[in-house]
Amino acid sequence: MQRRLAQMLHHRSAGLQKGDPVSLPLTTSTSYHLPEVQGAAFIYGRNGTPTWEAVEAQLALLEDAETVTFPSGMGAISAALFASLRAGERVILPSDGYYVTRVLSEGFLTPLGVDVVQIPTLDYASADFTGAAVVYLETPSNPGLDVVDIADVCARAHAAGAIVIVDNTTMTPLLQRPLDLGADLVVAADTKAPAGHSDALFGHVSGRDATRMARVRDWRRLSGSVPGSMEAWLVHRGLETLEVRLERMCASAAVIAGRLAEHDAVQALRYPGLPQDPSYALSAHQMQGFGFLIGMTLENATVAERFLERCLYLVRSTSFGGTHSAGERRARWGDKVPEGFVRLSIGVEPVEALWSAMAEALR
Ligand SMILES: *Cc1c(COP(=O)(O)O)cnc(C)c1O
Repeated sequence: MQRRLAQMLHHRSAGLQKGDPVSLPLTTSTSYHLPEVQGAAFIYGRNGTPTWEAVEAQLALLEDAETVTFPSGMGAISAALFASLRAGERVILPSDGYYVTRVLSEGFLTPLGVDVVQIPTLDYASADFTGAAVVYLETPSNPGLDVVDIADVCARAHAAGAIVIVDNTTMTPLLQRPLDLGADLVVAADTKAPAGHSDALFGHVSGRDATRMARVRDWRRLSGSVPGSMEAWLVHRGLETLEVRLERMCASAAVIAGRLAEHDAVQALRYPGLPQDPSYALSAHQMQGFGFLIGMTLENATVAERFLERCLYLVRSTSFGGTHSAGERRARWGDKVPEGFVRLSIGVEPVEALWSAMAEALR
């Protein structure tokens, strides 16, 4: 991975001519000089642009797989699902996963004749995948942070004749590598840690099967679900510092999770990196880091909201993976978690300053 990260930072170097800009130019042109149809690198903005090509080159290095980018995480998830499923087939989804994926599937796949079945993330460990065309999973689940063995699910899904799609948003390719563990497609919202500054929506699909990826690419071109150049440029910039940001975020999350777990005001604490956490053993085996998300349960909704209001260094917003630490009471969206459950996304603040603010707010 170290070499891939260095290659990613220098992916344009070899192609530079004397006097070329070192950082990526932002190309907004929708049309390209096309005196004849054959042989042009770019034809029209819906088919491809130099800015997408650059960010896809970075992501392809990180994923070690062909990558197609989308205007949001949901754009990527839609592409992967619609390119993989037909009428009469079955998809298995996590009932405790990202809720928009479930709403999309129920609202648009079910009416097209796809059988949408939902099971809790932990049940993937024992589920029978017979009859499924696609097994779709998220691990760690969001916001519950339950973990399931990706290699084991892939082996059983493949034996049953299904392909596996993994939403790897919470981990990024730096912290978890589903394709290396047997998954057929990875989908991710680069809106989160990869873009990293809470100012761009973006997503990608990666895979190592050329036919499958061609279908995903066709979906983008034909459905028109195309990323904007500015967003591609912002994600290109964000990816250059992803490793450094993640290092700080994960290290701080470990410190803060440990202290929260011991705190009297905290009734329950989930962080895959705590040895007492039910996800610890599998996470230590399957992930390259424990991430920056923490699930904390306070006494009730009022106490949780008051904590978020009083903590100086927690942004009260949905979403995660930004430079600013953020907190949100997830029951307000209807997630099946206790009323006092707060999802924390740890940012890049110096950890002791962040902890003092949190300890003060808990008091
Ligand atoms: C945010 C998120 C998405 C959707 O990403 P958007 O860019 O908001 O469309 C999908 N899956 C997970 C796990 C997410 O956290």
